[in-house]
Amino acid sequence: MKVIVAVKRVVDYNVKVRVRSDGTGVDIANVKMSMNPFDEIAIEEAVRLKEKGLATEVVAVSCGPLQCQETLRTAMAIGADRAILVETLEELQPLAVAKLLKALVDKEAPQLVILGKQAIDDDCNQTGQMLAALLGWGQATFASKVEVLDGTVQVTREVDGGAETLSLSLPAIVTTDLRLNEPRYVTLPNIMKAKKKPLENIKPADLGVDVAPRLKTLKVSEPPKRSAGIKVPDVATLVDKLKNVAKVI
Ligand code: AMP
Repeated sequence: MKVIVAVKRVVDYNVKVRVRSDGTGVDIANVKMSMNPFDEIAIEEAVRLKEKGLATEVVAVSCGPLQCQETLRTAMAIGADRAILVETLEELQPLAVAKLLKALVDKEAPQLVILGKQAIDDDCNQTGQMLAALLGWGQATFASKVEVLDGTVQVTREVDGGAETLSLSLPAIVTTDLRLNEPRYVTLPNIMKAKKKPLENIKPADLGVDVAPRLKTLKVSEPPKRSAGIKVPDVATLVDKLKNVAKVI
């Protein structure tokens, strides 16, 4: 079973992002970039399937600028066998990424595609669902447990008030939630090994995909600043303020 995993290069989750002064987006100049955390979980899960003898090959795919090669090397240090970069400087929206992944799936014929449930930069939570629709495959989103049992994948998902377990026939799409696994620490020997693994570089045109944006961002703005709080001398004043000033009780 071949597994494709989509990994996105995003602003590191520890960075406090700043909105550009012209309101067109966030400033990513000189900002630390890393693999989207949900995609690290996706790679980890695919590598565990390989270690259990259930997957034969794990292929990591990233779409974006040349620097995404670093993200792909990290994916290979975690344990992916090879990687494909679809290189473009165009701003990629989820539909464009889903079309690129669809074209790669047609070429590579995997049985399973694992994506993160959402990218922490755009928070779209769309790509996996769009890919499933374009392929006409079953999808299980927000997976907290994945088990491959001959010809099917059983996925437990966290839903309101409990857990739901689905059985999907392969090929299928799975998107990862936070509790699926804890990605391993990347060791230096594995970073060195990853440098020798194959990394193919292609362009959207090689896949016949038009990645032009379909949506236009009108404005990005910072959340309003919180105003300072006040100290109250006693419970009676607190209740009075909550009732008459904040009007929340
Ligand atoms: P989104 O729909 O943008 O929230 O992204 C959901 C998931 O789609 C991510 O966690 C990745 O697995 C995948 N994805 C989105 N954009 C890219 C990209 N440019 N390259 C590779 N994978 C991506």
